[in-house]
Amino acid sequence: MADFRFSAIDQQILDKVVEVGESTTRHTRYYEDHEHETPPDRLEGERGFEEVFPLFGQREPGDTPMMTLMMAVSIARGSTSGVVRGLGLAMPQGRASGLGNAALQSAGTPEQKAKWGNLFLAMSITEPGVGSDTKAIQTTARLDGDEWVINGDKIFVTDGVKADGAIVWATIDKSAGRAGIKSFLVLKDAPGFKLVRQEKKLGIRASDTAAYAFVDCRVPRDALLGGDETVPKDGGSAGYKGVMKTFNMTRPAVASGGVAKAKGALEFAKAEMAKEGVEVDWGKSFRNRSAVEQKLIEMEADTEAAALTVLHAAWLSDVKQPNNLESSVCKAKGGEVCRTIPQAAMDVLGGMSVSHDHLVEKFLRDGRISDIYEGTGQIQRLIIAREILGYSSEELT
Ligand SMILES: Cc1cc2nc3c(=O)[nH]c(=O)nc-3n(C[C@H](O)[C@H](O)[C@H](O)COP(=O)(O)OP(=O)(O)OC[C@H]3O[C@@H](n4cnc5c(N)ncnc54)[C@H](O)[C@@H]3O)c2cc1C
Repeated sequence: MADFRFSAIDQQILDKVVEVGESTTRHTRYYEDHEHETPPDRLEGERGFEEVFPLFGQREPGDTPMMTLMMAVSIARGSTSGVVRGLGLAMPQGRASGLGNAALQSAGTPEQKAKWGNLFLAMSITEPGVGSDTKAIQTTARLDGDEWVINGDKIFVTDGVKADGAIVWATIDKSAGRAGIKSFLVLKDAPGFKLVRQEKKLGIRASDTAAYAFVDCRVPRDALLGGDETVPKDGGSAGYKGVMKTFNMTRPAVASGGVAKAKGALEFAKAEMAKEGVEVDWGKSFRNRSAVEQKLIEMEADTEAAALTVLHAAWLSDVKQPNNLESSVCKAKGGEVCRTIPQAAMDVLGGMSVSHDHLVEKFLRDGRISDIYEGTGQIQRLIIAREILGYSSEELT
């Protein structure tokens, strides 16, 4: 039975995470305005996660399982007013925390994990003209002797500038459709690899987003993730489905970022309203609440509900249960509240909400991407419908 009440030590961890996160508040605007400047590993005055680690050592076997706790940490951290680094760079796993690392962990061989596990790896699927429909990718990989030769263009690679390399999707047999798609580990020093540009974005500006080009880019034969070079002739796509499973781990993480922005905006709105004497009292009857109180209650309920879907998807992963449906549900909900809750906070706060003196406008901008990458909200709803109705991706597109 899932139970998301945190034990005393887990609550201490969450409180400490917020405390540490707040230590970079004064640098937040700087990195907003200097988006191509990567924050150093340690900002002036920044308190680090080493303050949190000792608390992990005090956890007992009955405490919250690890991925569930990490999602709660992500929500707590992302809702602070500190510098929001790209997708968990400051998490306990340290440098090896890119989206590509999740792919390596879920689809790599033990040898590949041992060889590359400490690198920081981005994930590179999207191409100019190919986004949601990932099976349509055009980048190719061809075996030449003991090397793969990769050709193609990739865009929107999160952390693509600062990462050591990326897990790159390419087809080894275009005629085979999904069955021909494989992922390759490409390090930045591979001959033929080019970092083309860094995007300027609406939000998450402290997280870099890159475009890559591969021109006869050569990587060793063992760079094929999972090592399976075969293309099932019956159209089977177990390999493709295998790498897609990575999303069951990463979607809760992305959703947690969306919930975090919603929570950040909600907490700020509540604090500002409290200054004006409007405090939420859940016990008060509906007819005795003011319009603002009612709005804050609805915002809190939506945010909490979204947070619970994230914890549920993570918990299923912790207990080794399938979470395909739940990871899409949480991604859809997390992607939704990060759009609607900062917007609702703006309704309550009025003009001050767009001022750079506060972070509500930043939560709105930063959160927007949570409903786009790792599969848009619409695509999540498609997956949810398929899962519930029992349709395949060919039957319901
Ligand atoms: C800041 C940022 C970071 C990113 N990071 C990464 C990364 O690290 N690695 C990576 O590989 N990619 C990354 N992406 C790419 C991201 O995953 C894609 O943008 C996303 O999957 C959507 O693809 P698209 O932009 O091509 O939109 P399209 O697929 O062209 O879709 C356009 C619109 O149509 C809707 N739509 C499409 N198909 C359907 C359908 N069948 N039914 C209903 N609606 C549909 C979509 O929901 C969307 O609203 C990133 C993008 C951004 C903006």
